[in-house]
Amino acid sequence: MRATGWIALYLAIVTLPLLVLLFGDDVPPGYEFGWDLAKALGFAAMSMFGVQFALTARFHAATAPFGIDIIYFLHRYLAIAALVLVLAHFAIFWIWYQDSLGELNPLVAPWHMTAGRAALLAFIAAVITSEFREKLHLEYGLWRFAHIVLAVGGFALAAGHILGVGYYTEAPLKRALWLSFTLSWVLLIVWVRIVRPAIQQRRPYRVSEVRQEGDDAWTLVLEPEGHRGWRRFQPGQFAWLTLKASPWLTKEHPFSLSSAPHQLPTVEMTIKDLGDFTGTISETKVGDRAYLDGPFGIFSYQRVPRAEGFVFIVGGVGITPVISMLRSMAHEGETRPVWLFYANPDLGSALFKDEIDTLARQLNVQVLHIVQEAPPDWTGHTGLLTQEMLEEEVPEELRQKLHYFLCGPPPMLEAAEAHLTALTVPRRHIHAEIFNL
Ligand SMILES: Cc1cc2nc3c(=O)[nH]c(=O)nc-3n(C[C@H](O)[C@H](O)[C@H](O)COP(=O)(O)OP(=O)(O)OC[C@H]3O[C@@H](n4cnc5c(N)ncnc54)[C@H](O)[C@@H]3O)c2cc1C
Repeated sequence: MRATGWIALYLAIVTLPLLVLLFGDDVPPGYEFGWDLAKALGFAAMSMFGVQFALTARFHAATAPFGIDIIYFLHRYLAIAALVLVLAHFAIFWIWYQDSLGELNPLVAPWHMTAGRAALLAFIAAVITSEFREKLHLEYGLWRFAHIVLAVGGFALAAGHILGVGYYTEAPLKRALWLSFTLSWVLLIVWVRIVRPAIQQRRPYRVSEVRQEGDDAWTLVLEPEGHRGWRRFQPGQFAWLTLKASPWLTKEHPFSLSSAPHQLPTVEMTIKDLGDFTGTISETKVGDRAYLDGPFGIFSYQRVPRAEGFVFIVGGVGITPVISMLRSMAHEGETRPVWLFYANPDLGSALFKDEIDTLARQLNVQVLHIVQEAPPDWTGHTGLLTQEMLEEEVPEELRQKLHYFLCGPPPMLEAAEAHLTALTVPRRHIHAEIFNL
């Protein structure tokens, strides 16, 4: 219901200003259908671009029904849809009303027409650099900075273009409406880029311990400094971590919370050395400053309280949200059955192995390691997760009733989803956390 409510709100935000501008007593005489359509497409695109800022503003109430990965997924495809609308807006003028476009040369063209063209270029650049970031070898931090500049700059230029053209916004009331609409998006940007980092700045965390877990992963133990920290989170959720940097610099990275809620106000994150930022985690010192933005996410067994049991299918560092859930289950005296399929290159790389064995003795958990390189006396599963492994371990009569939580490398998630679908597990019983937004 909440999800439907948010979708309805989205449609209202995109269409309402359009309707108000197109209808009423003071509508200027339209040239004809094509002319009005082109204008309408421009307004709709502008509203959609405005909502893009809200989608990535990480409002808890709006992200909770969907999960933040779905929100980012929407952000991505709605941006493409909005760009198609802007291109159509431009194309209609270019094909049928070329005279109205006037001079291209910015030195002689009216400023608002140049602003419109620059906005179009900024939106195209924002979409292309996002869609092809990896192919263009754009480093994530640089891409993110450029994305913010292109999006905010493009939006400001487009707003200037609309007000400068002044066609449907000429009447004072409509102009006021469009101005307040634009202002609300500006306030949203101010909230995301200025106010929220300021709030984070006042709620710092201190690294109180750095624990090495295996060869290339470290757990950071974080304590709130000068405040009480979070009051609650659901095991399996994640947060954005800013480490040794100001929250204004947008150098944040998402990590699952590997600790459980009963350990609050202490929060732990277990981070594997995989790249530029994570490669520096081992250099973290006790006393280092950190900031958290969270908790987020819907990857938690607590969201399905009526489930008859759980199957965790994880690969490598994908264990982090699951160890949080197992710790929480042990604390709460969970008695429902749990299967943990835990895939790793070899047994030595399995994070939290000893603790998982201890938790398995307290809980009703079957731990099923899957290793690619098996030791000589190995009697467990080898290779990659297969449908046969699931059939062998999870009793048939329970398969459709259990809830499945998947976290690991994308190919593993895809394979696991395909196996579960083949075993006729209902889609709503499959929950996946993707470690790449
Ligand atoms: C919901 C979620 C939970 C996660 N939980 C964990 C965890 O518990 N433990 C763990 O080790 N890893 C976790 N990750 C993955 C972790 O966020 C990335 O490995 C890390 O941000 C990579 O940064 P890097 O600079 O070291 O890598 P790079 O090699 O520079 O980047 C590798 C890729 O990681 C992504 N990435 C890089 N920087 C960011 C950023 N600031 N924000 C988002 N994505 C970025 C990009 O797709 C990039 O191409 C999680 C990711 C998500 C989305």
